[in-house]
Amino acid sequence: MAFKTRGSVALISVHGDPAVDIGCEEAGGQNVYVRQVGEALAQRGWKVDMFTRKSNPDQLDIVEHQLGCRTIRLEAGPQAFVSRDHLFEYLPEFLSAFQTFQNKNGIIYPLIHTNYWLSAWVGLALRKSQTTRLLHTYHSLGAVKYRAVSTIPMIAKTRLQIEKQCLEQSDCVVSTSPQEQGHLRSLVSTDGTIEIIPCGTDTQKFQDQNCNAARQQLGIRDETKLILYVGRFDPRKGIETLVQAVGHPYVQHHQQVQLMIVGGSRSGQKDSQEQSRIRAIVNELGLQDQVIFTGRIDHDHLPDYYAAADLCVVPSLYEPFGLVAIEAMACGTPVIASAVGGLKHTVVHGETGLLVPPQEEDELAHAIDYLFTHPVEQQTMGAAGHQRVTRKFSWPGVADQLDQLYLSQLNHLCNEFFPGQFVS
Ligand code: UDP
Repeated sequence: MAFKTRGSVALISVHGDPAVDIGCEEAGGQNVYVRQVGEALAQRGWKVDMFTRKSNPDQLDIVEHQLGCRTIRLEAGPQAFVSRDHLFEYLPEFLSAFQTFQNKNGIIYPLIHTNYWLSAWVGLALRKSQTTRLLHTYHSLGAVKYRAVSTIPMIAKTRLQIEKQCLEQSDCVVSTSPQEQGHLRSLVSTDGTIEIIPCGTDTQKFQDQNCNAARQQLGIRDETKLILYVGRFDPRKGIETLVQAVGHPYVQHHQQVQLMIVGGSRSGQKDSQEQSRIRAIVNELGLQDQVIFTGRIDHDHLPDYYAAADLCVVPSLYEPFGLVAIEAMACGTPVIASAVGGLKHTVVHGETGLLVPPQEEDELAHAIDYLFTHPVEQQTMGAAGHQRVTRKFSWPGVADQLDQLYLSQLNHLCNEFFPGQFVS
């Protein structure tokens, strides 16, 4: 389909580089989202520049992904990994590098879509110095996250203030689920405009495929009962609860149970602390022979893993959206997820999988046992999940909604300058 040329948009994602490998350190859903939004919008005629922080001297300053879509890395702080809780001090540098880029290239982006609160600070600052429409996607909300985790970082107060300012002052917040919208209204502010547009997944890549073929590809035996986890190593992901559930008698009474944990960087990096903690729990429970750690798997190879699994578990303590759940569902695999955040929107309890309370290994073990002992339901839920993703969370549909939102924001901008001459 041919689309008309739209306009220029800057997607700002200070800590989530859309051009890096996904699944290790802090690279996860936000990186995937920004890249997919960027590419899909470019295909619809937008000229998309995705700005991120350069975190390694070997990285290219500009990566061209496709016509009209590139990643631009700005220098701000050390060219090394810096955890997101320690990036705030480098934001003024990021802001000034962004402004220098605009000046050098003779452009002022009429639309800026920021991602995560760090980028919101940059967007709010830019709006003071130039005429632009500001959209924001939170990806994670401090107000909810700090209730779910035990360690609250020093930066928490600043983050909460900026998240509030962002909701009240940006032109539109793109919330990825009704649950997130509810949290924004009850915990952050009653002011500000919110539009719900979910995250999406590539349903060409993640599609219902043959389980046996996938198992053959990965060397997994037919009789194995395979439980899959995909994601980063982060305490808020709840991997500990999953390992404990696998060691529970409800699950252990089944033969040939295997847990495959996909994700995580090589040792020596920040997430290795959580990896070591999880491995220690596996050893303590004597589950070494039943748990496989694959390390990070390329996004393009993940469909085989989802298809090979009997079920995929997303045991998060808090999950703003949770791309893994819709990727698994797209591949026809039922999902057992914590009943938190966006997972309550994507996973329909009893229809596409099961929802359980977070951090409750007994309940999780019970849910796993249920699906293992009800293979027909397991199949039906897998098929229903595939249909739900195709209907509600496929990228073309999601991108069309974002396209319309961007167009309406551009119209607002034009009407500010030439009242009455543009129709929304
Ligand atoms: N992922 C990946 N390879 C891995 C582990 C994870 O490509 O080895 C991807 C996964 O497919 C998903 C993203 O990382 O697209 C994780 O996104 P999600 O929203 O589930 O969690 P987040 O990382 O944002 O907390």
